[in-house]
Amino acid sequence: MALLGVNIWRGMLGVDGATVIEGIDFDEEADCVVVHVRPRRSTKRRCGRCGVRAAGYDQGEGRRNWRTLDVGKLVCHLQADSPRVNCPEHGPTVA
Ligand SMILES: [Zn+2]
Repeated sequence: MALLGVNIWRGMLGVDGATVIEGIDFDEEADCVVVHVRPRRSTKRRCGRCGVRAAGYDQGEGRRNWRTLDVGKLVCHLQADSPRVNCPEHGPTVA
């Protein structure tokens, strides 16, 4: 499958500038697009609930998938690491 430019995907998926698109795969078995993303350094390690910067806790459950906007007839998933941070208020939380 011919892949479009990352910036085009960014727009179609509603991925903002705080997220880096590392690569895009097409999963023929699941018939879906998997977009590999990671947060930019400046937005790393924040509590997923309140956004406060917090110390790293552990690697959480590893890679995690989120269903995102479909592109045409294609089902799209975002895939990213889901490390946890130790929020002073919320405790261990997925970043
Ligand atoms: Zn928090």
